[in-house]
Amino acid sequence: MDYAQQLAFFANILEQKRLVTALEGNASMIDREAGLTYITPSGRMKLLLQKEDISVMDESGAQVGGRGRRSSEYLLHEAVYRARPDVNAVVHCHCPYLTAYALRYQDFIVPEGCSLHAVFQRFVCLPYGKNGTHEIHRGIEAALEHSPVCLLSGHGVVCVSDCMESCIGLLEAAEGLAKTLWVAKQI
Ligand SMILES: [Zn+2]
Repeated sequence: MDYAQQLAFFANILEQKRLVTALEGNASMIDREAGLTYITPSGRMKLLLQKEDISVMDESGAQVGGRGRRSSEYLLHEAVYRARPDVNAVVHCHCPYLTAYALRYQDFIVPEGCSLHAVFQRFVCLPYGKNGTHEIHRGIEAALEHSPVCLLSGHGVVCVSDCMESCIGLLEAAEGLAKTLWVAKQI
């Protein structure tokens, strides 16, 4: 499977898992050898995406392939790839529990008793930045230094990994953790 095909496949999975929708969330993968970034297009149902729909971006930031216009959050993905040579897959989304915590404009501290504490200790919450601009990723390099997940104040979540399979697994685990902690607070 080539990169575009793989990303279309994983974007389908992200929507099946209700982590993204047509209007919210985007995913990307980078082919560092070819210098190309593959990203989901704007405004399309991820469940219906095919390889021809995936936007292909060159190193100058120009779109060189794909039927749709590239996601408006491409700058965020590009900033992560520039800062982290070990990262090859990025998902940005508004999954409800983590996003609810992002609406507090505070870091999310994972309690020590949680089974996932070995994986996640803190999700840093970046300062608010306007959608689709460079403002949105201010401080992301430091925020991702000790965790694959960080929060965007008043907005959503970013998850990174060396491959998309692992990225989706981490995002799902982090969202599940946020849900469990919220439920625990109601008991
Ligand atoms: Zn967003």
